[in-house]
Amino acid sequence: MHADILDEAAEREQQMIEIALANRKPPQMVYTGECHYCESPIDSGHFCDADCRKDHEAMVWAASQRRVV
Ligand SMILES: [Zn+2]
Repeated sequence: MHADILDEAAEREQQMIEIALANRKPPQMVYTGECHYCESPIDSGHFCDADCRKDHEAMVWAASQRRVV
């Protein structure tokens, strides 16, 4: 029986995917004068506050999960 070897290979492949996803650079964001999430006017950066950054990241992550690689 070689089931253990197959399981190990699948597990290693999953780890590789997770590492690749974790290291993937976020898409380049340009300063637009608005929060990228709620579109509130801002003086600098890309988000009006930490919550919007977090929510935006969650939204981007959720969108990436829908795509079949
Ligand atoms: Zn915002």
